[in-house]
Parts: sequence; structure tokens; C-alpha cells
Amino acid sequence: MSTIVYGAGISGRGAAEILAKHNEQVYLYNDNPCTLPEELASLLESKNGGLIIGSENWSALLDKADLLVLSPGVPTDIENVRLAEAQGLKIISEVELGYKNYQGHIAAITGTNGKTTTTTIVGEMFKRLPVKSAVGGNIGMALSKEVENLPADAWFAAELSSFQLEKVDTFAPDVAAVLNLTPDHLERHHTIEAYGEAKKNIFKNQDASKYTVLNYDDPTVREWASDSRGQICYFSRKVQLEQGVFMQNGNFVIKWKNKEYVVCNIKDVKLFGGHNEENILCAIACGFFAGVSVEDMADVLKNFKAVEHRIEYVTTINDVPYYNDSKATNTDSVIKALEAFVNGHIVLLAGGYDKMTDLTEMMNLVREKCDCLILLGAAQARFNEAAIKAGVKNIRLATSFKDAVDIAHEVARKPQVVLLSPACSSYDMFKNYPERGNTFKNLVRALEK
Ligand code: ADP
Repeated sequence: MSTIVYGAGISGRGAAEILAKHNEQVYLYNDNPCTLPEELASLLESKNGGLIIGSENWSALLDKADLLVLSPGVPTDIENVRLAEAQGLKIISEVELGYKNYQGHIAAITGTNGKTTTTTIVGEMFKRLPVKSAVGGNIGMALSKEVENLPADAWFAAELSSFQLEKVDTFAPDVAAVLNLTPDHLERHHTIEAYGEAKKNIFKNQDASKYTVLNYDDPTVREWASDSRGQICYFSRKVQLEQGVFMQNGNFVIKWKNKEYVVCNIKDVKLFGGHNEENILCAIACGFFAGVSVEDMADVLKNFKAVEHRIEYVTTINDVPYYNDSKATNTDSVIKALEAFVNGHIVLLAGGYDKMTDLTEMMNLVREKCDCLILLGAAQARFNEAAIKAGVKNIRLATSFKDAVDIAHEVARKPQVVLLSPACSSYDMFKNYPERGNTFKNLVRALEK
């Protein structure tokens, strides 16, 4: 029998490659036409498999297979997956496949926001261990491929989205961390409960030898402790915990099994904003349980700059700093960005492909913290309406992305900051959020000249 890998993106290609390398016959199935790198195409062919396009071949394909591996982009409730289920195929996610082929250690990180930042910090911490380490998952590298060739004592930092966690079976990371849960991706999960359930899969197979790291300050995530069999380690910005990782007089503190360690002070780190404090606390817990020394963790944190497109400093023009937060594709991350600039005086560029989520809380904060709101993209009219309703005063409507940047440049004066934090996807004008962020940076740098 053979395996079908559904979806020929980064994860699907990685999974197909690994399976074929293990001598399996693999059909890499994609709904829409696409081409494979030559090397992968010939590897699949050498095992009598290959790329299959289009749904008319689906039933015939199912007859040949006993396993279906789903890429994260493939919803689990579509007709093709239902048909596979009805026919008795085993269905797993690409992450589960990677896990089955890996003997080493994993710290897995999920949450609505902050995954990439936290996983990147954890990956840097793991580099300080005397063993091999790697990073992968939702961060742009297929987990199943990245774990290849890692020895049994390695540590892997995995960023996992709810999509990747939907179809895990035996996945049991040594450390499972949950940052937060706010409404997002409801177009796929339908309800916040279903979205939460997918995220909870990160710890569902853990036992008492493993650690579940949970955000104490997130009321939903805090409650999940009772659903895990792992050892619970909370982290908190707000409460000095009896046991866990928390803030004390600006210090990042670990208190575990009656021992206390001070990692470093908030003043020593380059990342800023309350949300990044949470990301750092979570990363420290992951590093600690993997055995990274407190000194090494402190050193990593002191040198760690924002990940690209996440409140990333671009440059300063006429004493006004410009920040690119193109990754802020939902209102919660915009709220965090606005809160991160404690002095306010923000000139905010927002709008894009509208996710149709409620804007009340965000616009109330915009009213308090922003001197000017520049709206752009397909979401412009709805955002404008919500802003007016919230009493936001200085609203400007841009005619293009460049126009938005030009308006910001025209209005911004010291002590203001210019921030692109769209609360929207980018698909109305760009291929993806990195392209939007890079366009912003290029336009800003052109103004500098
Ligand atoms: P993810 O990988 O979960 O999308 P990122 O680290 O890429 O998370 O950050 C995405 C966006 O969310 C950025 O705009 C960032 O400023 C914001 N953000 C980062 N960490 C958090 C957090 N802990 N809570 C809320 N928002 C956050």
C-alpha cells in the first residue's frame, strides 16, 4: 500500500520526501496545478509515486493507499478527507509523521500570537546546549524534514499552529507550551472552542515525565492545567507564582522545586512590550526544562532583536522612528503593539484584507494611543466606520499603500512613532505579510533618502 500526502506546500513536500526516502510509495496530491523541484519529483518517481493534481483522481487514489498525511493548510472537514476517513485510511498530520520518525527531544510552542518570536528565542537557547538542535514547524520549515538526521539527544524547537495540531495521534513533546488563545482562524475551526481543542492536542499525550507550560495570565489557557497529565509550569507577568516563571522587580525569575533563579532584568533585553515579556517567560520555561543554563539564557535574551515584521525597528526620519509590524494580522496583536509603545503618540497604518473580526476593543485603544490613524486596503470602509464610532479623531484614508506611507511621513513629528500594524491579512494587495512588510521598509527607506 502507499501513502497520500495532501497538499504540496512546504510541509507536504517535506513529508513526501521523508516518506520516499524511507522507501515508501508516495502520491503527493494537490488540488491546484503546481510543479515540484526536479530532485523531489524524481525521488517520488523512483518509488513509483509522484505528483497528482485535481480532485477527479481522488477516489482512484484512495483505493491504492492506507495512510493520508495532511498538510497544515488542508482543513480536516473537507469532502476529500471525509471520503478517506470513510474508506478506512489512517489520517495524520505532517507533524505526527515527523514525530514518529524522531527519537530526540521536543519543546513545542503554540498560541494565537507570539509563536514565532518565542520559538525563535527557544531555538537560540537550544544552540547553547552541548547537543544538536534545530527549529521547525509553522516557522517555514517542515518539521518532518528538519528532524531528519537529528540524534536521540537532540533538542528541537517546534512552532505549531492549531492546523498542525488537529490530526496528531501520539505526539507527546517533552515540553508543550501555550502562549495565549484569542479568536482567530474561525473560518476554519468555526468556534473558539474547536480552535482551543486543536491547540490542547499539544499536551494531550503527555505524562508526568513531561512539562506543560501555560500562561497564567490568560484565563482560558490557565484552566487547561486540569486537562494535562504533564507537570504544570505556569508563567506570569502579573503574579509572583509559588512555582513557575514570572516577573519580580523587573527580573525574569524561575522558581522550581524550591529553587529560585534570576535570569536577567527586563532592562537588559532588547525586545519590548508586555507581550514580549510573556514570550520571554515562556521561552525561559522551555529553555530551563531542556537544561539550558541560566547564564546562557540571559546571554541569548540580551542579544535577541525582534524577529522580522514583528514590531521591527526600521529607521528614524526627522526624529520619528518607524516600525514594521506587518505580521500583526489580527486585532489582538495590534492591541499588543499599541500597548508596547507606552508613551502613545502613535501614527498607525492599519487595514488590508479584512478578517471581519470585531474592532471595538482595538479602536478604543487607537483612540487613546494614536495621534493619527491612516487606513488602507479592502478593510478601509469598515475600519473607518468602527474608528468613527469609537471616537477616533484624526483619521486619514489612503488611496494606496505608498500613499499611506507618504501621509505618515507628512504628519509624523517628534515625539511620535510611525507603526504599520494592519490587523488584517495582506492578500488584498500583497502575496503575504513579508512582502507587505518589505514594501513598507523599502518605501520608508526611500523617504529617508
Ligand atoms: P505567531 O507566530 O503566533 O503569529 P509572532 O511572533 O509571529 O507570532 O507575532 C505575530 C504578531 O503578534 C506580531 O504582530 C507580534 O507583535 C504580536 N505578538 C507577538 N507576541 C505576542 C503575544 N504574546 N501576545 C499577543 N501578540 C503578540
